[in-house]
Amino acid sequence: MKILKIDHLGIAVNSIDEGKKFWVDILGLHFEGAETVEEQKVTTAFFPVGESEVELLQSTSPDGPVAKYIEKKGEGMQHIAFRVENIEEALKELKEKGVKLIDEAPRIGAGGAKIAFLHPKSTGGILVELCQRD
Ligand code: ZN
Repeated sequence: MKILKIDHLGIAVNSIDEGKKFWVDILGLHFEGAETVEEQKVTTAFFPVGESEVELLQSTSPDGPVAKYIEKKGEGMQHIAFRVENIEEALKELKEKGVKLIDEAPRIGAGGAKIAFLHPKSTGGILVELCQRD
């Protein structure tokens, strides 16, 4: 498995517009646009930082995974995403190593990337996302 870089940091927020006040108005990051992934009940907004990005996640529904996360833990860092060269290969290798996977097979996330999540029980408590962009 080859990890190429930290692709993005996922941050759960109640409101992307509110979040922008810090990330754009104060830190001066560039807002690159938002996208809704209906299947995940989430709207994501990307803010490039060097070779990586900050991703703000806002739930589109009170029963979506991001809404549930905020309900339990409050707003804040929700996941870290590593870009890998080959996501199918990476998942196969991790499974062989006994890592618990949330997604056994990749699905399509924001920006058309192939993504898959690893279970925090296998990662020391961090929700880890793998992504592959071609
Ligand atoms: Zn993500």
